[in-house]
Amino acid sequence: MHNGDIKTVTILGATGSIGCATLEIVRDQRGRLGYDSIKILALTAQNNWQKLAELACEFQPEFVALANPKNISQLRDALAHTAIEIGSGPAAIDEAAARNANWVMAAITGAAGLRPVLIAAKRGCILALANKEALVCAGSLLTDICVSSGTRLLPVDSEHNAIFQVFDPNLKHRVQKIILTASGGPFRTWSAARMAKATPAQAIAHPIWSMGAKISVDSASLMNKGLEIIEARHLFDVSPDQIEVLVHPQSVVHGLVEYMDGSMLAQLGPADMKVPIASAWAWPERIQTHGERLSLADLGRLDFEWPDEKKFPALQLARQAMQIGGNACNALSAANEVAVASFLQGKIGFPTMIKIVGDVLEKGDVCGASWHGEPESFEHVFDVDERARMAAQQHVASVIE
Ligand code: NAD
Ligand code: MG
Repeated sequence: MHNGDIKTVTILGATGSIGCATLEIVRDQRGRLGYDSIKILALTAQNNWQKLAELACEFQPEFVALANPKNISQLRDALAHTAIEIGSGPAAIDEAAARNANWVMAAITGAAGLRPVLIAAKRGCILALANKEALVCAGSLLTDICVSSGTRLLPVDSEHNAIFQVFDPNLKHRVQKIILTASGGPFRTWSAARMAKATPAQAIAHPIWSMGAKISVDSASLMNKGLEIIEARHLFDVSPDQIEVLVHPQSVVHGLVEYMDGSMLAQLGPADMKVPIASAWAWPERIQTHGERLSLADLGRLDFEWPDEKKFPALQLARQAMQIGGNACNALSAANEVAVASFLQGKIGFPTMIKIVGDVLEKGDVCGASWHGEPESFEHVFDVDERARMAAQQHVASVIE
C-alpha cells in the first residue's frame, strides 16, 4: 500500500479475543490517519449478536454476518437504523470472506474457519492467519492456493509471527532449527494427580495470555503447542525434527531461529497479541502502537526448560500425527475440538480429553479406517474432519456411559 491508499479490511471472528484486538488497532490507526483511511468490508461472529451490533455501529462495515441464524432478527433490529447489510448462517460467513478486502484477519476458532479462509485465500489478499486449525487441517492444500492466487499468508500466532520476523527465506537452507516457546499453561507446576481433577474454569485461567476458551484449554493441555508444531511445518516448510518446543514461563521470547553457524535470532515482546497483529497489519512496514513495552531490566531473568512430555502427551501425539501424514493431523485437530468441547461442557475430565484424541488417532474412524495419507482435495479434508469428529463423539459417549 502507498500512503493515501485506503486499506480495505475484513475480520472473520470479529467478536473474539483476536478479532477485538485487531479492531483496537483499526480504531487506533483511524485515529492517527483519519477515519476514511480504513474501510471495513465485513465483520463476522458466531452467536454474539449484541457484540457484533456494537462493533458494527462503531466501525461501520459494509456487511455483517452471524453464523448462528437463531438471533438474526435481534441483529436486524439493532442495526435497523443503519445501511449495513446483514447475512446469517455459514453461507453469510463465506460471503464475508468473498468480499474484496485486501487485508483479512482469519480469527474464527477451529475447522469452522477453514472454508472462509479458503475463499479469502483464493481471491488473493493479505491473509493474517490466527486460525491455526485451518492450516493444521488443510496443510499444503491451503499454502498451494496462497501461492497460486498471490495471497500473502502472514502468521499471527505469536510464536510463528516471531519466527516469521527472524526467518530469512533466502537462507532457509542455512536454518538448523526453529524453536517455539510455550508458557506451559496453568498446569505447568501441577502434579498429574491434581491435573486429573482440573475444572474447566481452572483450565481457562491462563497465567499470561487472555484468550478464547478453546485455545486456553489447548494451552493447558499443551495441544496448542502440538497444533503449533504442525502449523510451523507448513508455514516455514521445515522438517518435523527441525521444530523444537521450549517452555518459557515468562512468555517474553516468542520464537527463535537457529542458523547453521550457531547464531540464534529471537523475537521478544510483551505478551500482548496486538504486537503480532500490528506486525501483520503493517507488513512489510511497521506501525506505531501505544501498548505496554518490555523492560528487560525489570524482568531480570528469562527461564527456559524442556516440556514434560509424559505429563503433557499432546506434544507427542501431534508429532505422531505429523509422521502419519496430513489426514492424521486433520483428524487430531478435529478430535481435539470435540474433546475440548466435551471437557468444557463438564462431560469428561481433563486427561480424558487427550486420551480421546490419542484413541481417535490410533483406532481410526468409526469403521476402523486409518488416517494414513495426504488430503487430495478440500472435500477430502472436510470428509476426514467429519469422520474424526464422529469417532471422537463415540469415544466421548463410551466414557460417559
Ligand atoms: P474466541 O473464542 O475469543 O473468538 C472466536 C471468534 O470466532 C468469535 O468471533 C466467534 O464468534 C467466531 N466463531 C467461533 N466459532 C465459529 C463458527 N463455527 N462459525 C463462525 N464463527 C465462529 O477465540 P480467539 O482466542 O480469538 O481465537 C481465534 C483463533 O485465533 C483460534 O484459532 C486461536 O487458536 C487463534 N489464536 C488466538 C490467540 C489468542 O491470544 N486469543 C493467539 C494465537 C492464536
Ligand atoms: Mg501461539
